[in-house]
Amino acid sequence: MAVPLLDLRAQHEGIRDEVVAAMLAVVERQGFILGDPVAALEESVARLSNTKHAIGCANGTDAILLALRALDVGRGDEVITTPFTFFATAGAIHNVGATPVFADIDADTFNLSPQAAASALTARSKAVIPVDLFGQMAPIDAVAAALPALPIIEDAAQAIGARRRIGDAWVRAGENATIGTFSFFPSKNLGGYGDGGMMVTQRDDLAERLRRLRVHGGSRTYFHEEVGYNSRLDALQAAVLAAKLPHLEDWSAARRRNAAYYNDAFADLADVRPPVIDERNESIYNQYTLRVPRRDALLEHLKARQIGAAIYYPLPLHLQPCFSYLGYAEGAFPMAEAAAKQVISLPVFPELTTAQLDEVVESVRSFFQQ
Ligand SMILES: *Cc1c(COP(=O)(O)O)cnc(C)c1O
Repeated sequence: MAVPLLDLRAQHEGIRDEVVAAMLAVVERQGFILGDPVAALEESVARLSNTKHAIGCANGTDAILLALRALDVGRGDEVITTPFTFFATAGAIHNVGATPVFADIDADTFNLSPQAAASALTARSKAVIPVDLFGQMAPIDAVAAALPALPIIEDAAQAIGARRRIGDAWVRAGENATIGTFSFFPSKNLGGYGDGGMMVTQRDDLAERLRRLRVHGGSRTYFHEEVGYNSRLDALQAAVLAAKLPHLEDWSAARRRNAAYYNDAFADLADVRPPVIDERNESIYNQYTLRVPRRDALLEHLKARQIGAAIYYPLPLHLQPCFSYLGYAEGAFPMAEAAAKQVISLPVFPELTTAQLDEVVESVRSFFQQ
């Protein structure tokens, strides 16, 4: 039995009527740019994230870019971030004219190490971008303590609705950041039927600036305080996402159940290291990522059995050809480099059946028992 890494059609099956009705309502009204659907989704995401504001934009990459611009990060500034993330995190830093400064990750959680981030601080540091990788929040409290002078952009593209216990409160992804950013790329836990993104913040001034930056930098049409972007969240996408949002908690719980199923099933395999979730975190498992020896051979083995598996991410960002100008050499970030060689992500999407889970388990086990 083939098991895909992600099955968006299975998800659509279960919500077709709601989503199609929501899309049709936008089509009938012919209101495609901003307006009620976008405002309604912004309100719902702000409520979920315990933030005062949420501002939709075109995608999760732009969300980071707009956040950097709203914090006046530009030429001559440095932004500290992790080398073990999707490219967009560092791409956005480069694209506002600033310099990405990488710091190594925690060996267990794959998230930015607050200590490493602190040692990357210079007089030119202007912001820090921790990433909530694979669905578990970065230690936002420890990052803030390690870098008290820097605003935090939390790249929560993979972690909408994830929680972390800080003191005796549950804090949601984005809630404690200066600006939190989300992506609605179809493979994220809350995925649109196309691209989309959002920024959340508690600060009125930043919310106003972000709203302006997404429409060419003008708070009134045809009057521009600064040069911004065309980066709006599409109303059709907002309608789809609003229809899907009520299911998000259940979907994330199903992902956690699937992860627990794998953890049990692999517990006796000495070579397999299951994902480590910080005891203060509740992950939404955007990915279920093992660390294994002979990783590439396992990937081939799973491919041959038609099991969807993928490597997130095979080359850390400090070693990407486009960032050679930054001057990092191999060995600069040993934890990130080791992770890139060892990780493999398995299907964890909420609609997985027990038969599919068992097929994945058997396929992994057969590799290590041969
Ligand atoms: C997906 C993702 C992004 C970019 O989001 P897009 O909507 O694809 O632009 C940024 N950062 C991380 C960590 C992501 O996973």
